[in-house]
Amino acid sequence: MEKGDITCPKCGAGFRRITLSSLTGEAGEFRCTVCDHVLEIFDGSRAVIYRLTVAPSRIVA
Ligand SMILES: [Zn+2]
Repeated sequence: MEKGDITCPKCGAGFRRITLSSLTGEAGEFRCTVCDHVLEIFDGSRAVIYRLTVAPSRIVA
């Protein structure tokens, strides 16, 4: 299992990225949940989980 932190270059949201190398995932893409910027394209060979850890400060709810 690999862990890493990804920051969206567009809006500054932070994500924890976890790769589960023992599992296969689905091909597709991960988009920033805040601004919809594509952060990664998956080939489906490994399962990857993203979790939002830092909400961009400029977003006002
Ligand atoms: Zn973003």
